[in-house]
Amino acid sequence: MTLSAETPLSDIADMADAYHSVSFRRLWRNGTGEQKLTFFSVWLLSILLSIALGMASVLYAWSGLAVGFGGVPLYVTIYPPLLICTWWALCFGWGWGAVPAYLSTLTLALYAGMPWYWALLFACGNPIGLGVMVLGYRAIAMPCSLYSWRSLVFFLQMAFVGCMFSSAAALVWSYTNQLDTVALFAIWQGWWLGNFLQNVFIVLPLLALTWPRVEQWLRRHRPLLSIQPTESRKLVLQLMGALIAGVLIYALATIWLGTESVQSEMHSNSVAKLSFAAERLAAMIWAFFWVIAFVSVFMGMFGYQMFLHWHRTNNQLLAQLGEANAELAEQARTDGLTGLANRQSTNRALTECWLSRRRSDEEAALLMLDIDLFKHINDQHGHMAGDKAILAVAALLRREVRNSDLAGRFGGEEFVLLLRGCDCETALEVAERVRQRVAAALISEGESKLQLTISIGVAMARHDDADVDHWLRRADSALYRAKHQGRNQVVLAS
Ligand code: GH3
Ligand code: MG
Ligand code: MG
Repeated sequence: MTLSAETPLSDIADMADAYHSVSFRRLWRNGTGEQKLTFFSVWLLSILLSIALGMASVLYAWSGLAVGFGGVPLYVTIYPPLLICTWWALCFGWGWGAVPAYLSTLTLALYAGMPWYWALLFACGNPIGLGVMVLGYRAIAMPCSLYSWRSLVFFLQMAFVGCMFSSAAALVWSYTNQLDTVALFAIWQGWWLGNFLQNVFIVLPLLALTWPRVEQWLRRHRPLLSIQPTESRKLVLQLMGALIAGVLIYALATIWLGTESVQSEMHSNSVAKLSFAAERLAAMIWAFFWVIAFVSVFMGMFGYQMFLHWHRTNNQLLAQLGEANAELAEQARTDGLTGLANRQSTNRALTECWLSRRRSDEEAALLMLDIDLFKHINDQHGHMAGDKAILAVAALLRREVRNSDLAGRFGGEEFVLLLRGCDCETALEVAERVRQRVAAALISEGESKLQLTISIGVAMARHDDADVDHWLRRADSALYRAKHQGRNQVVLAS
């Protein structure tokens, strides 16, 4: 479904089916005073808490834990503000998480003495990582529920990719702190690994615990949600572009850092140092391998999820198309006013019946009915009353015929009944019964009651009819005779 600004909110997919975000503009314009106060004050508190936690991480040097990863010593960073920001971005939209992420990192960078222009750039890392994460959720309309394998695995994938992107900030950090390439590598790899582990062990359970309440809140506040045009193709292209760029930059940086560290030892002729550098290079290559392996698996799984998403959407569209086609086919078969078979489908049924009769001896009767002096009804009571009379006769005809028969409106106030497997005697009985019932019916029109009569021409199918039109013409002439003999009667064709 493509949503536009005019799409009513009730048409938005159910909360459980897709990623939704709170629109700042809609909250500001449509939100009640209380809603705005609650939402903004909780958000502002989150910003302050993020800044405080960011500062604390510098003041108390929560720089991280030293661990080995694929043989490489790493500093796994711990950065608490990111937990709050990721939660906000996933639950309420990118901007709500990006602002505290940017402000907290900017504050700590300035506090740590980073030049302001570098700090401005440095603070972009986490918002970029969150952006890639949210882009993935939007691209395949994935809810953040975490209650299915599909959404759990998706969270892990997006968290991994998001962390890889936000770790770009480590390059700025190392550059401004004049760290060498070896230290940079350890910090950079530890940066995304640390972020990823925090996402897995803290954000994931936090999200799983809070999601039911968040979802309820979103459900209750639909008018505040963004109506995002789900231009999935564009989103997927953006995500894929970002991923490919990310992987290429990652690969280049790893190779550059690896060779730099070996080359720096090349000049010292110490064999021990050289072999240490070679070992480190091998270890870096392994770390590189694991990252590329994870990204490849991610790309494959994301592609598969994309395929499932499109498959589902296509199936839905096909089902809608099938329903629309069935409806159109029904409309093409029936007469708009009465719902009886229209002229084309009546003709088709007559032809089929006539052709099948040539192969078997089954009898068939054709009744041509015409309301008597119908012009008077239109003239005296108006066209609306005329339509009402046509509807009343159609309803009566529908009641009179069996499932195997066909009742059609041939034109204006003319009808056709095709009675299959019906002998002449029965056909005349049916015709007479219909004539009497119409004559006995009272059609209420405002204060007055209308009474109608009809004339009927009956023609049995015959083997010497040259074609179906001949059969029709015989029924028509019988009808003509009924009119001439004084109307309100049944005449059998010769
Ligand atoms: P007769 O007994 O000879 O059949 O007389 P009649 O007045 O019924 O004659 P005729 O068949 O010539 O006139 C039919 C009229 O039915 C002409 C037209 O204005 C009217 N009519 C045709 N289709 C509709 C319709 O869908 N709604 C209404 N209200 N009138 C219709
Ligand atoms: Mg008539
Ligand atoms: Mg007529």
